[in-house]
Amino acid sequence: MSPEQTLKNRWGYDTFKPLQKEAVEAALAGRDCLVVLPTGGGKSLCYQMPAAMGRGLVLVVSPLIALMDDQVAAAREAGLAADALHSNLKAAPKREAYQNLVNGTTELLYVSPERLLTGDLYEIIGPRLILAAVDEAHCVSHWGHEFRPEYRRLTEALDQFPKAARMALTATATPVVQADIRSQLALRDPEILIGHPDRPNLIYRAFPRRDQFKQVLEVVRRHPGEGGIVYAQTRKDVERLAANLKKEGVSSAPYHAGLNAEARRQAQDDFVNERLDVIVATIAFGMGIDRSNVRYVVHANTPRSVEHYQQESGRAGRDGLPAECALFFSAADLATHRWMAKKDVTLSPERERALEKQLRDIGRYAVAPVCRHSQLAEHFSAPYPVGERTEDGCGACDVCLGETKGLSEEEALLTAKKVLSAAWRAEGRYGTGYVVNLLLGRPNDRITGNGHDLLKVFGILKEAGEPAVRSWIDQLIVQDYLEVTEESEYPLLRITPEGRALCQDKGSVRLGLPVPPKAGKKKSAALKKAEKAGVSFLEADNELFDKLRALRRAVADKKGVPPYVICHDSVLLEMASSKPKTIDDLRGMKGIGEKRLEKYGQLFLDAIAGKVEEAPE
Ligand code: ADP
Ligand code: ZN
Repeated sequence: MSPEQTLKNRWGYDTFKPLQKEAVEAALAGRDCLVVLPTGGGKSLCYQMPAAMGRGLVLVVSPLIALMDDQVAAAREAGLAADALHSNLKAAPKREAYQNLVNGTTELLYVSPERLLTGDLYEIIGPRLILAAVDEAHCVSHWGHEFRPEYRRLTEALDQFPKAARMALTATATPVVQADIRSQLALRDPEILIGHPDRPNLIYRAFPRRDQFKQVLEVVRRHPGEGGIVYAQTRKDVERLAANLKKEGVSSAPYHAGLNAEARRQAQDDFVNERLDVIVATIAFGMGIDRSNVRYVVHANTPRSVEHYQQESGRAGRDGLPAECALFFSAADLATHRWMAKKDVTLSPERERALEKQLRDIGRYAVAPVCRHSQLAEHFSAPYPVGERTEDGCGACDVCLGETKGLSEEEALLTAKKVLSAAWRAEGRYGTGYVVNLLLGRPNDRITGNGHDLLKVFGILKEAGEPAVRSWIDQLIVQDYLEVTEESEYPLLRITPEGRALCQDKGSVRLGLPVPPKAGKKKSAALKKAEKAGVSFLEADNELFDKLRALRRAVADKKGVPPYVICHDSVLLEMASSKPKTIDDLRGMKGIGEKRLEKYGQLFLDAIAGKVEEAPE
């Protein structure tokens, strides 16, 4: 069977995703390669396909033991002879996996690095091994976000299999990490396959934070019954948001490092198995989470860096269907990050500079009225747009959707000068609140005592309203025209030398403002995205979709695997819209291979025909 036929037969897909075919061909030709694809880019297929083609054994090294059993289950659903070996395995499956290896029937073997490095597998694996894949390969690099010392020793193991091709896979796009992977894993003249980091199915939104809970709830309400992750900065934020969501009747749980292991495991398990819609978490949550139908990720606070944002927001929409990533920004969060980074350690000047740059970059991302997709792509040095530019931009971010409006150049400069001169007048002796009151023309004892109510700037931005003024101050902070100093007990707002220069028309500034959403516009974007993904949400019968989801959950529960292992939402959505009647109808759909068809085809057909009310026993 050709790779194309195998793709259709095993996975039910007609075409490869970008670079998958190249990776598979490299592996089959015995050539090393480095595969960099964003989350959801389809990395697992790159090594599963050579295994499915029956040429020999494929080894997959992965640090995520918690995910391994699910990955094995998913591979088996596609008809692969897959096993895993790691320290958490019970005796019986361990024996079985070992026996399969001895019998030479294993096609795909997942191992943890520790397990591989014990060395006792080399002899049985060696002769049949055609490919050694190293997943999450950024773990070899100090520069990645997740360094693992065992990964440094992997070449020791890989050198035992000189004839097997090596494939390193990661979603981390920075060149230093890539170079590190190449040298640390001793890739031999590897083919370098680097995909575009953009995630076209994600809708990015970034707005100034006004009322944290209200804004979070708005996003949650847009996605009733769907899976979502809400990230907050501190445990206290997490607890408060989770409690408030519960009060609103949202199925949700908190997750942070302060909870005991059992509570965390339970929350994670419930979320992955779709017994829970929303997880409210600090960034402790994420690595090792594999729920492909996360429909939204909200950042209730500003993330630490653009890299973190890419990573965390990237957990949305792994199944390729539309998903939303919303970020609620406040410059105060940046100060909190700074404080957290420094509270226990003294940073080297180098580290400190890096931290400041990270904070500035994420701040700019959040406040610049510039297409979010293009900003993210540019941050990772990738060209954007990927194809042709359309009239309304990416059609998938608040800026291009007209939800955030950039002020014209002149308007921005004029507004900035107003804000800056108020800060200048306050001489860096007051906090943000004071300057806001000044600009809005709200007198108080301190303002009148200082005679500041007589200044020309007093009330000069009255019309704009408080949220806009506060957001502009934040926007000027991340553009370095204002700074918050912490020399005294209270944070003080101060104009910078660049700010003074701007007041004299030296330099340029960008300012934006959220505009009240127009219902019609949003819908059309969602529709466009859905069409891109090959399914129309509008055509799908929602009731049937929910019913099919419930059926899938029941089947998954019985088998003790997460629902996505049975099939992805996209498959259910297509069923709910095209309402197939026969096995052949199902075969024509994307994402159902022969094995799944055999196991579940009739069950789903019966449900669609209305013959099953409850899931079968
Ligand atoms: P990654 O590991 O890169 O995040 P996965 O391997 O989990 O990505 O794949 C992401 C999703 O894409 C999965 O739902 C997978 O079934 C789907 N997928 C993989 N290859 C294809 C393909 N050729 N066509 C359509 N969907 C695919
Ligand atoms: Zn855009």
